Amino acid sequence: MARLVMKFGGTSVADIDRIRNVARHVKREVAAGHEVAVVVSAMAGTTNRLVDWCREAASLHDAREYDVVVASGEQVSAGLLAITLESMGINARSWQGWQLPIRTSDAHGAARILEVNGAELVKRFKERGEVAVIAGFQGVHPETNRITTLGRGGSDTSAVAVAAAVNADRCDIYTDVDGVYTTDPRVVAKARRLDKIAYEEMLELASLGAKVLQVRSVELGMVHNVRIFVRSSFDEPDSIDPHAAPPGTLICGEEEIVEQQVVTGIAFSKDEAQISIRRVADKPGVAAAIFGPLADASINVDMIVQNVSPDGATTDLTFTVPAADYERATSVLNGAKGKIGFERLDGATDVAKVSVIGVGMRSHAGVAAKAFKALAEHRINIRAITTSEIKFSLLIDANYTELAVRTLHSLYNLDK
Ligand code: ASP
Ligand code: MG
Repeated sequence: MARLVMKFGGTSVADIDRIRNVARHVKREVAAGHEVAVVVSAMAGTTNRLVDWCREAASLHDAREYDVVVASGEQVSAGLLAITLESMGINARSWQGWQLPIRTSDAHGAARILEVNGAELVKRFKERGEVAVIAGFQGVHPETNRITTLGRGGSDTSAVAVAAAVNADRCDIYTDVDGVYTTDPRVVAKARRLDKIAYEEMLELASLGAKVLQVRSVELGMVHNVRIFVRSSFDEPDSIDPHAAPPGTLICGEEEIVEQQVVTGIAFSKDEAQISIRRVADKPGVAAAIFGPLADASINVDMIVQNVSPDGATTDLTFTVPAADYERATSVLNGAKGKIGFERLDGATDVAKVSVIGVGMRSHAGVAAKAFKALAEHRINIRAITTSEIKFSLLIDANYTELAVRTLHSLYNLDK
């Protein structure tokens, strides 16, 4: 017997037929003797509609009331799934965030989970064999006693938090892909599904655009050591053997991965823009003068490279921002030109960032050097390079993205 959290996203609960399908997935696990808590998102399209309604009502609105409105989507799907399970003879009860409770900060619209009380759920697993159906995405702020939501895509984080609270053996994320791939299969036909990936690697992949899971759910999983399993919700519920290992990707601690590859995956993003500040004074306080105003404007800066000045007087500084923020970023910088002091700004929006990720890089030398050589052979120019312990990122011309990703994918033996 195992204790499982099963999470289903919006497309999996898009209508009553699909909710029935979800119920059959749940039934299979219950019949196999497992204790089950289910976490659901709102029915597909619902949250978007609720968000639009808030905007339509007033473009500037109180975030507390926004949360009241958008949290309602999950209330509906949780209730509907509980009804469906009951109708199939499965003992089930729905739970809203405030009922457990799932305690959060008061950052309405982007609240952080502080604590989840799983005691009542565990008691009911034991005493009544009851399935808990939990509304994802929502919680409550204990001091004000008001409903909060966790930010878009937040029910992944709800699921992992519940799994930590009830000490689940696994948190299954049922989604419209059957796992995490070495890279985007639409770009590289030979992309392979990974059996396992370490939390840290997944964090890099997720934040770099492999849009499988909300990044915070992986952070939370890493902190609480929750084994997160990404699997398909399209598989026929009754054809799955609940005792066999299903296809999917397990996100887990490094120690659980026996045959660690040096490189696990290649991520890329074309939504990048490059900004270079030429001949900026080489003295203390300049980086603060540049990045302070960008932070104040809520512009996320990613790769930052600064050269060592040849003459001790001026240097160049290059960094990337999301392409959508490019105009805003350049106008913020031009506005602060007097304070910063530089000769000119250069920029480009037709750039892409390609990142190579793998915890194995910690113990292997020369991993990046191989990439430089391979890209040079294809005459792909590298504009900027950044590295961390388990990844390196290259900024290149956007036109070469696919070629670079394919080249690196086969270079590191990721092709199937
Ligand atoms: N329904 C919410 C959203 O669309 C939460 C989720 O689906 O994870 O963002
Ligand atoms: Mg999602």
